[in-house]
Amino acid sequence: MDFNKKTVIVTGSARGIGRTIAERFSAGGANLVISDISAEAAETVAGEIGNKSIGLKADVTNQDDIDALFEKTIKEFGQIDIVVNNAGITKDTLLIRMSEKDWDMVLDINLKGAFLVTKSAAKLMMKQRYGRIVNISSVVGLTGNVGQANYSASKAGLLGLTKSTAKELGARGITCNAVAPGFIATEMTENLPEEAKEGFLSKVLIKRAGTPDDIASAVAFLASDEASYITGQVLAVDGGLTTV
Ligand code: NAD
Repeated sequence: MDFNKKTVIVTGSARGIGRTIAERFSAGGANLVISDISAEAAETVAGEIGNKSIGLKADVTNQDDIDALFEKTIKEFGQIDIVVNNAGITKDTLLIRMSEKDWDMVLDINLKGAFLVTKSAAKLMMKQRYGRIVNISSVVGLTGNVGQANYSASKAGLLGLTKSTAKELGARGITCNAVAPGFIATEMTENLPEEAKEGFLSKVLIKRAGTPDDIASAVAFLASDEASYITGQVLAVDGGLTTV
């Protein structure tokens, strides 16, 4: 897919799904901003990806970091066309054991972080009258999950943010969509108990775990000019896990 002359920010892109998404945009010729909570990790990955890539520290819960992220991106590339809200964490435990701190941390990073980044992106994109925003939710935002009340709530919240953003910004040429990954093999999921992994996989119609590339394909499509008439949608990329 052609992303020549497009500038893309992917949050949380120093590893995992975010990194693969970033690499996909880079392969399409985009100017790329790798942003993550660690400056060193972001810069290292940008260096590895190379051409037209910069690495910037941005903790998505920190407004000053986000302001600096947008200022530096504009200084380097002059515009921001595509933003992928990918940064996310889990702090899993059963509801009755879940601390208020772990609830707040997950909601802050996964949901408020996407709100803050989207708000900054929207201001620029409205002036450009062009933009693509893709939020990385999760199938558990649609279904809920045992041990993930905080995470599921944050990912369900992202769907409300996605649809509201689509409604507010559509008239300015800006689309906003969500991708809801199912069970994807990354560092985030490798430490899950074997039973939990098997439980997920037994319900996947395409009999394998998803890969970061499966997610990158969906994100690239939704961010492309080919998807200009798609907004406010949630695309489950889950091998059929949530098919009823
Ligand atoms: P990961 O843990 O491998 O990567 C997450 C990245 O986010 C890391 O680089 C981390 O440093 C960064 N990050 C964490 N807190 C941050 C903050 N405050 N500010 C900026 N960056 C921060 O996770 P992953 O598996 O690659 O997941 C990426 C996204 O996909 C997440 O939003 C996750 O919820 C979602 N997702 C993953 C799966 C899966 O099966 N792996 C399934 C559904 C949804």
